[in-house]
Amino acid sequence: MTKVIDGKAMAAALRQAAGEAAAELKRAHGLVPGLAVVLVGEDAASAVYVRNKGKATVEAGMHSFEHRLPVETTQDALLKLIEELNAAPAVHGILVQLPLPDQISEAAVLAAIDPAKDVDGFHLINVGLLSTGGEGLVPCTPRGCLMMLKDRLGDLTGLRALVVGRSNIVGKPMAQLLLGANCTVTVAHSRTKDLDEECRRADILVAAVGRPRMIKGDWIKPGATVIDVGMNRIDDDRPGAEPGKTRLVGDVDFDEAVRVAGAITPVPGGVGPMTIACLLANTVTAACRAAGNAEPEV
Ligand code: NDP
Repeated sequence: MTKVIDGKAMAAALRQAAGEAAAELKRAHGLVPGLAVVLVGEDAASAVYVRNKGKATVEAGMHSFEHRLPVETTQDALLKLIEELNAAPAVHGILVQLPLPDQISEAAVLAAIDPAKDVDGFHLINVGLLSTGGEGLVPCTPRGCLMMLKDRLGDLTGLRALVVGRSNIVGKPMAQLLLGANCTVTVAHSRTKDLDEECRRADILVAAVGRPRMIKGDWIKPGATVIDVGMNRIDDDRPGAEPGKTRLVGDVDFDEAVRVAGAITPVPGGVGPMTIACLLANTVTAACRAAGNAEPEV
């Protein structure tokens, strides 16, 4: 088995499964799952994410509703749109692209989304359900990471897992999912002492920090499974690279770590594609629940 986990291939399979489940919903119930994505402002990276999400949604046979609002949009106007999307029967999933402009409170916006349509899994109801083992909607990036770990390792029971990063969107939900999978979980952050030592103890290491190649090869336990969530754009420092060119790297020094790890996700081509595939899967799940159905296995 190759050491490098192919996130693109896994994501393609999951997208196909989501598409098949969507087709089944249409055949059996005349229902087409719909995902509404809201973008406020003109942040270039966010615009690319929104475009990719819309394209993937349509390719899976679902409806995509894009709402692009100007950067000066007020919080009230955005809350009104969310109210309309909450009430729209054709919309099963709602995603508000973060970050939002300063005049809008992210917490207020996330709280306004119907938890049953909260395909990002950021509403406090879904956060609570995840931490208490209930059936909510799970944040896409950590959900994708867990799928990759289970695909590679099978049962995770008893393994020591270290999550580096404690953000609400990646680190904390990741830790909850690993706990739910019976791992012994440690969460590290910027105040953690002797991070290298913590890393060396981990059978599973999930890096979600946002610091290019911070985790070195000799921090990794031989044979460990490494999931690199980080997406950092740096100057391309490879020999022969054109001056001024940039490239994406993770939080783990891949070239060093791949020699030590049992398995590792690359950047790009690892966690990123799985995040979008999980968004489609969450949208199908939300649509199935709206139809009063059992969930299809996606
Ligand atoms: P945040 O900035 O919200 O959180 C970063 C976390 O890393 C914080 O908890 C911070 O600790 C911790 N941290 C920062 N510096 C250190 C350090 N030197 N040692 C240990 N811990 C440290 O980032 P996100 O969680 O939103 O994202 C993390 C990375 O994942 C980013 O590169 C982002 O681009 C990427 N990402 C990728 C996705 C994908 O689909 N592939 C999706 C989402 C994110 P503290 O809390 O103490 O400040």
